[in-house]
Amino acid sequence: MEKLSLLQKMIDDSHRIVFFGGAGVSTESNIPDFRSSDGIYQEKYAYPPEQVVSHTFFQKKPELFYEFYKEKMMFLDAKPNKAHLKLAEMEEKGKLSAIITQNIDGLHQLAGSKNVLELHGSIHRNYCQRCGKFYGAKYVKESEGIPICECGGTIKPDVVLYEESLDSEVIQKSVREIAQADMLIIGGTSLVVYPAAGFIDYFRGKHLVVINKSATPRDEQADLCIQKPIGEVLEGITV
Ligand SMILES: [Zn+2]
Repeated sequence: MEKLSLLQKMIDDSHRIVFFGGAGVSTESNIPDFRSSDGIYQEKYAYPPEQVVSHTFFQKKPELFYEFYKEKMMFLDAKPNKAHLKLAEMEEKGKLSAIITQNIDGLHQLAGSKNVLELHGSIHRNYCQRCGKFYGAKYVKESEGIPICECGGTIKPDVVLYEESLDSEVIQKSVREIAQADMLIIGGTSLVVYPAAGFIDYFRGKHLVVINKSATPRDEQADLCIQKPIGEVLEGITV
């Protein structure tokens, strides 16, 4: 059977789908993976991205952190793509129970999805480290240098930096959703970024599907692998 027909059949057959997505979901909205080694940052920044986006670096060189963060991780004009829209439609029609994402851009919510578990936080939530006051993404993006609260404290994005642990409540909810799912679609992730790989072991459902442009370490475990961009694949699905 053709792969897309098989995917359609699996989705028709499922009622509690969980989608687990990575950077590849957002690249179709023109948001580059900041970890990608295409060299765009290397010309300009003296430090590798993993170092810049770390807790230590944020503490020691916040001005450099924010220079990188605002330019390479905040894309406030980005629009949801076909993948985001189809997943929102699947939830609305009662087929999909949760989206677990490694992305921080908020595009699933913008597309209309309700139950979105953001493993790495969101650029849309920012808090003063001194008084806890909330700030939106626009305030951070448009601030000169380090965004400062009206109380004088430094604002920190609610984004999980390297060296920081993931929110335990988000992890628990994600594991619960995966354990209760009858279908798990993994999309736009190479499954090498922690904790993606470990989560999948909680899946006990019928259909495990991996949709990614390149091969992943879990392809052999999957019932179906499609090596294409996620938006292109989901566009062809009817729910
Ligand atoms: Zn404050």
